[in-house]
Amino acid sequence: MKVKKHRFPGVYIVIDDDGSEKIATKNLVPGQRVYGERVIKFEGGEYRIWNPSRSKLGAAILNGLKNFPIKPGSTVLYLGIASGTTASHVSDIVGWEGKIFGVEFSPRVLRELVPIVEDRRNIVPILGDATKPEGYRALVPKVDVIFEDVAQPTQAKILIDNAKVFLKSGGYGMISVKSRSIDVTKEPEQVFKEVERELASYFEVVERLSLEPYEKDHALFVVRKP
Ligand code: SAM
Repeated sequence: MKVKKHRFPGVYIVIDDDGSEKIATKNLVPGQRVYGERVIKFEGGEYRIWNPSRSKLGAAILNGLKNFPIKPGSTVLYLGIASGTTASHVSDIVGWEGKIFGVEFSPRVLRELVPIVEDRRNIVPILGDATKPEGYRALVPKVDVIFEDVAQPTQAKILIDNAKVFLKSGGYGMISVKSRSIDVTKEPEQVFKEVERELASYFEVVERLSLEPYEKDHALFVVRKP
């Protein structure tokens, strides 16, 4: 088994003895596992295998994402952080110099995140509603990236409203869009086109990527605030 750097800083490729490759992040909190992920040790570092079936961002990277604005040192506003599966990998990537402000509106789900952030102190959990950014305005500074995964009908508007308040100019948004959360009756392609048009009213749309086969009828958009 071998570990090498991915072209995205903070992301690694684990090459198993049978030649198969997986993506991973270097554990910021050695000894901590977040969602039952496989952990491997290599040359003094501990790496957490990033499961693309549990994380849309992991699926996007494996599907050949071209633009990945989350880097070591980035400040990220994460909308829909849930119990921290994807956010834990983002936390490994941004490191102790970076910070994640994680908004979640389900108290039950957020409670599962609490034991994780006790050691992983670069995540700030916030109980809040992403459709009402003014509710957490006092807690969140200007950020480099907003990542959104809320599976709500008004996903694009949520990203725009949060970007107006929190995103630096030149900063990036990443949004996972589930077509069936927006309109079950329309073809996913039609829904994605409409979302793209709405995002383009405020952002420059940099990339759109399908998350198949890991997630059915999902696309991930990368956008930039001019
Ligand atoms: N991003 C997570 C991951 O990969 O680990 C999974 C997120 S899950 C698909 C969507 C989450 O968004 C749920 O935990 C849900 O409670 C939360 N959510 C939905 N609407 C929200 C809103 N308006 N404000 C904040 N959180 C919301």
